[in-house]
Amino acid sequence: RIGTAALAVQVVGSNWPKPHYTLLVTGLCRFQILQLLKEKPYPVAEVQQLDRLEQFTNGHKSEEELGELSEQFYKYAVQLVEMLDMSVPAVAKLRRLLDNLPREALPDILTSIIRTTNQEKLQILDAVRLEERFKMTIPLLVRQIEGLKLLQKTRKSKQDDDKRVVAIRPNRRITHGSITEDEEEEEDHDDVVMLEKKIRTSSMSEQALKVCLKEIKRLKKMPQSMPEYALTRNYLELMVELPWNKSTKDRLEIRAARIVLDNDHYAMEKLKKRVLEYLAVRQLKNNLKGPILCFVGPPGVGKTSVGRSIAKTLGREFHRIALGGVCDQSDIRGHRRTYVGSMPGRIINGLKTVGVNNPVFLLDEVDKLAKSLQGDPAAALLEVLDPEQNHSFTDHYLNVAFDLSQVLFIATANTTATIPPALLDRMEVIQVPGYTQEEKIEIAHRHLIPKQLELHGLTPQQIQIPQVTTLGIITRYTREAGVRALDRKLGAICRAVAVKVAEGQHKEAKPDRAEVGEGEDCKEHITEDAKPESIGDTADLALPPEMPILIDFHALKDILGPPMYDMEVSERLNQPGVAIGLAWTPLGGEIMFVEASRMDGEGQLTLTGQLGDVMKESAHLAISWLRSNAKRYQLTNASGSFDLLDNTDIHLHFPAGAVTKDGPSAGVTIVTCLASLFSGRLVCSDVAMTGEITLRGLVLPVGGIKDKVLAAHRAGLKRIIIPQRNEKDLEEIAAHVRQDLTFVLAGCLDEVLNAAFDGGFAVKARLEHFNSKL
Ligand code: ADP
Repeated sequence: RIGTAALAVQVVGSNWPKPHYTLLVTGLCRFQILQLLKEKPYPVAEVQQLDRLEQFTNGHKSEEELGELSEQFYKYAVQLVEMLDMSVPAVAKLRRLLDNLPREALPDILTSIIRTTNQEKLQILDAVRLEERFKMTIPLLVRQIEGLKLLQKTRKSKQDDDKRVVAIRPNRRITHGSITEDEEEEEDHDDVVMLEKKIRTSSMSEQALKVCLKEIKRLKKMPQSMPEYALTRNYLELMVELPWNKSTKDRLEIRAARIVLDNDHYAMEKLKKRVLEYLAVRQLKNNLKGPILCFVGPPGVGKTSVGRSIAKTLGREFHRIALGGVCDQSDIRGHRRTYVGSMPGRIINGLKTVGVNNPVFLLDEVDKLAKSLQGDPAAALLEVLDPEQNHSFTDHYLNVAFDLSQVLFIATANTTATIPPALLDRMEVIQVPGYTQEEKIEIAHRHLIPKQLELHGLTPQQIQIPQVTTLGIITRYTREAGVRALDRKLGAICRAVAVKVAEGQHKEAKPDRAEVGEGEDCKEHITEDAKPESIGDTADLALPPEMPILIDFHALKDILGPPMYDMEVSERLNQPGVAIGLAWTPLGGEIMFVEASRMDGEGQLTLTGQLGDVMKESAHLAISWLRSNAKRYQLTNASGSFDLLDNTDIHLHFPAGAVTKDGPSAGVTIVTCLASLFSGRLVCSDVAMTGEITLRGLVLPVGGIKDKVLAAHRAGLKRIIIPQRNEKDLEEIAAHVRQDLTFVLAGCLDEVLNAAFDGGFAVKARLEHFNSKL
């Protein structure tokens, strides 16, 4: 029942990383509780002061004896302090204190400094009489002195540290209003010992081990209340957890790999072939210094899922690192540990998560890395991806090298245009084009529908989606290169059917009761059935439960709403001044209607539809070429003049006005559109075109032909005009798509115009030209 009265001098602390407060108090005297007045919200008691009383009552009685004792105590105390390192300021201060403080105060102070158990400290506290106090403390002092002597003998080299440990003991913590037990401290101490053991037994690199041992030494000396204590501990725990030497065993069998890839993915032959080659080389030569594969293609074409399959075939762990929008290089490389809240980068974090040092890391969306004031994450990735350097990748947080050479990196991107060249240089780009309608139908029936059925707890006996319906969804409800929207639509259908099936099961149970009640109950049941239903025919519900629900066009409309896209191509080409171009976007190819109109004015050209500089230049080029060739083609403005811009303004518009467009490939489309406007003739409604133009009327090759062709095919167009020098790109297009389409290879604008208009676009100028010469 004896305690110490104290004056709170300072309270410091924070809530991070966990609530942690330190109370600085000055001890005043011992006191004894006479009566507890109340316990809540904090204890209040009637107390009696003890220390002073002793002085008054016992002071004179045994002064001599006490004087002897205190003298003896003082000698021991001086002996102990002199064994410590005087250069440490705390020790020097202690030495001065010994001389300055009254002798009666010394036992209490020294007890709190030397190494004693909690039990012993309490005993000293309980010793109210000074004499008793001196008598009890002297053996403790002697014990400490002996201990120090022994230590000095055995570990001479490490003297300094030990002394400091003794000197820096008096730290008291108060948490939640009560003094924390020494046991807790000891527990923490045990933890630190365990941690040290783990560090010593872990298989980390020599360099890392050295750093860790140094840190743990620091940790041992650090008071736990220091924020740095938690930081250092987290750091050491991470170091122990990292898979320095732990790896899974590769099981590489090319035939099995082929089967896994084929089972998981339909089509994408080129990609699968390249992946198998890559794996085959790995099988023959167990050295990873190959290029890093980068899958580039529109969203939803299976780039990520191929990465997952590769991990599966190799029997490796898989981890995806989404890089979209990352603009801080410490996201890749970690923060230095000097920052509050510092943490390792995503690479090291990923390794900790998978727990092995040879996982497959999928760096998703490398084209969407951004730069900011916090540095360039792409530059940080360079080191990660370079096989020559990544065996000693240094995360700022770890501050020691970690060997990444066993990690298999695969990157994905929508476009290579925004990948920094240095990064692109380290990767082998594999284009993953969009799918054709036929491929999408197959993918839907082989992979997506079974997956969605399973997700929604349905069986093929409950729902049936015929291929025409899938085609309907693909053409009327989605317009994409990949299959993600298709997957979502199938999900929506499954959800709607799940409701019906669940309702059906409910009703199945109902008739039993109806039969018993007969009459009215039965009627009720019938009227309920006759209500209009949200899915398909009401007939669906009338079917016996074992019949699958058939999803036809009628049901599609009910579930997904009216079709979002219509095959409107021919309707839009019913007046002069419209042509269909083909555009490439990171989301795949698209068809684009280019519209032109003319009006009275002063020869100005207006361009709308958020065009980039290159596209604006294409428009100027097209007009210049047409003006210089107006006579040849008999093109006139409204007043019959060959100077097309005389008293005429032209307005060119590229629809989907909210989307920024750029690139040179719309050149031929603009020329065709303007030629149609000035000649008053209609462009064929089944033809689409792409190609860059020059002032001399040549057609230059452009990129993205495969995606563009697929887009035209999706839109149901029949003829495509492409630059002659793009002929080689046609080889990559699936045979059945090529069969459906006619390709016109154009080397100059004459050929483009001849193909774009029914019956050709006659050149009349040649004769005149010769005539004038004669
Ligand atoms: P990406 O990474 O290219 O954006 P995902 O890999 O996330 O696309 O693919 C989206 C979905 O489409 C996945 O569920 C995937 O299984 C499916 N998918 C895409 N292509 C195919 C394919 N060829 N065969 C089977 N499923 C596919």
